[in-house]
Amino acid sequence: MGAVDSVIQSLEIVSVAVPRPIDSFFTYSVPAEMTGLLSKGSWVRVPFGRSNVVGFVVDTPKTRAELPPSLDPAKLKAITEAGSIEDRIPTDVFELCRWASKYYAQPLGELLAAACPPASLGLRSTKRAAKELSRNTVEQREIHLNDEQKIALEELDAHRKGSSLSKVSLLHGVTGSGKTEVYIELAKRVLSEGKGVLLLVPEIALTSQLHSRLESGIGESVARWHSAMPDGQRRDQGAALRCGEIRVVVGARSAVFAPIKNLGLILVDEEHDPTYKQDDRVRYHARDLSIVRGKSLDALVVLGSATPSLETRERVREGKYHSSVLSARFASGGMPTIEIVDLGEEIRVEGIQAALAEKTLTVMRETLARGEQIMIYLNRRGFAAFLRCRDCGEVSECPNCSISLTVHKRSRELRCHVCGHAEGIPDFCPKCQAVDLDPIGAGTESLEEELPKILPDAKILRLDRDAITSATRLEKTLDAFRNGEAQILLGTQMLAKGHDFPKVTLVVVILADALFRYPDFRAPERALQILSQVSGRAGRGELPGRVLVQTYQPDSPILEVLLGNRSEESFLAEECELRQALDYPPFGRLARLRIESSDRIEAVSRCEAIANSLRQVQSQLETTQPDLRLQILGPSEAFLERAKGIYRWDLLIKCSAVGALSQTILAAKQYASREKWTLLVDVDPYGLG
Ligand code: ADP
Ligand code: ZN
Repeated sequence: MGAVDSVIQSLEIVSVAVPRPIDSFFTYSVPAEMTGLLSKGSWVRVPFGRSNVVGFVVDTPKTRAELPPSLDPAKLKAITEAGSIEDRIPTDVFELCRWASKYYAQPLGELLAAACPPASLGLRSTKRAAKELSRNTVEQREIHLNDEQKIALEELDAHRKGSSLSKVSLLHGVTGSGKTEVYIELAKRVLSEGKGVLLLVPEIALTSQLHSRLESGIGESVARWHSAMPDGQRRDQGAALRCGEIRVVVGARSAVFAPIKNLGLILVDEEHDPTYKQDDRVRYHARDLSIVRGKSLDALVVLGSATPSLETRERVREGKYHSSVLSARFASGGMPTIEIVDLGEEIRVEGIQAALAEKTLTVMRETLARGEQIMIYLNRRGFAAFLRCRDCGEVSECPNCSISLTVHKRSRELRCHVCGHAEGIPDFCPKCQAVDLDPIGAGTESLEEELPKILPDAKILRLDRDAITSATRLEKTLDAFRNGEAQILLGTQMLAKGHDFPKVTLVVVILADALFRYPDFRAPERALQILSQVSGRAGRGELPGRVLVQTYQPDSPILEVLLGNRSEESFLAEECELRQALDYPPFGRLARLRIESSDRIEAVSRCEAIANSLRQVQSQLETTQPDLRLQILGPSEAFLERAKGIYRWDLLIKCSAVGALSQTILAAKQYASREKWTLLVDVDPYGLG
């Protein structure tokens, strides 16, 4: 071997994960000038197919002499650009992505890209931003915890300092009990030890109030971290976090990957919230990943909620998680009183689309007369649910999806809430040509339009995805309501999340029934959570709160629990029994495998082929693991069988053991990849997708 050859042999090669739905890694050579600069977690720009992509180095670089004999060094492509050492994904975040890639059966390249979106890489930090991002001291607000808060704080802190292998605590505190103040005091202790803090929240758009509360509580600047943040901001904040200049992050689910230095505490607010499950592109559950990250760092993870998930409650019961309780509201107003309004019995307000009882209207008028505020919860956007022909009963459906179209009167459209398809409101029935088309059901838009007819003096603000199109708009709406510029805030799910408006003394749920009918095994639990959270918006200040829940099913067991006529424990114990009998989480594990195709027959037959191949895997697994319970269910059509013109068919795998579930999924993926089919895998699926 000549001298030149030995130099070439000693040059580096690296394995790179690219952000594509591909499980394998690719080998590239490192140009001489970059040798020694790369390590695991470094980002690199590489030629890939006909384009250039940013990927991540997944192993320490090797010399060319270490290339497997099957690879010809002359054929390797070279990386074209590389990030600096300071820019690389921190080890704990890298390992978290690797864990998630295995557990959720998602490509590592896509997870790394979710943790560290490539668009922000390679950008130069701007001078202005760098100045903004030095840690500012913020004038500190003094907090005096009440006795219950103090006890919870000490319990959490003791658990943090304890010797458990995995430090997870549930902070189970009723709405308005002051969980946030406990988070802040705990965060201060962790910061004083020179460690970092992460606060995860379900929805970043709703956190401007929380953000400033946190900053003034701990007395230093806090970064906001979410997937929609501008690339420059991500780059600069990332740099400030990696070097420890900024130590606290509040963020939505992707913030579980935030590159916080020496992370010592993870707070997951509203841990039960399903938005922690990321359902598009790469699938993971941010609460569950925060527990994995916390364990790897020996950091405390606090799961805060007024309505903890059954999964978390079960872990507490098993003794795997510790728990602390805040049983009373901080403010003197106490818990709100809840009343059921039976829509089948009560006299209805005439001349409006929405179901509103005269009784409810009277209470609303009284509240307004006292100068107090009202929140109205209606879980449907638009003007009406759907348009139905009075003669033949035909309902307008989306041409691309198996779902009815929603009437939006202001834009004079029928709109699909799945694919966005919009068409003009027809003048006659497309099936029988009759001219009487009735809008059925009410939405936030119709209620907003109709309320002034019955409450002429009240100013109304609407909070839903149609009205709130930007973060600025959202903040303006919330500020206006807080400042008393409006008396009524009307909205969808967005209302339920964490708002603290002390002057709201009345919450009205227009129709609880829609929550009971959702065909999902978590539906009863979810309905109770939503109703408790919405109710929790009432009476958070000194004034007592009242909640009116309108329904056609006044004897629903969920309402019995909400009213306090039945204990939450007994209701949830029954839910647990049911899930245990059916091997649903938290007892068994679930994974959904989905085939999509524009051809329905093809979707079904592919699912069948995969199911058949999995049955062989199943019998092998059952031979070696006699106690294993494994079921392969389906093919069955997705809840939304057709979306955006594509048919969706599913297999559902239920399994008592994580390892066997992973093996089954892997076998399915291998089968699909041999056949060159795209298989979508969702481990621990939420909702119906
Ligand atoms: P939760 O997060 O449990 O729903 P919050 O933390 O938002 O409750 O607290 C509810 C209200 O009570 C807030 O307005 C908060 O500022 C106030 N509060 C809670 N604890 C304290 C405290 N120790 N001192 C002063 N105000 C408090
Ligand atoms: Zn559609």
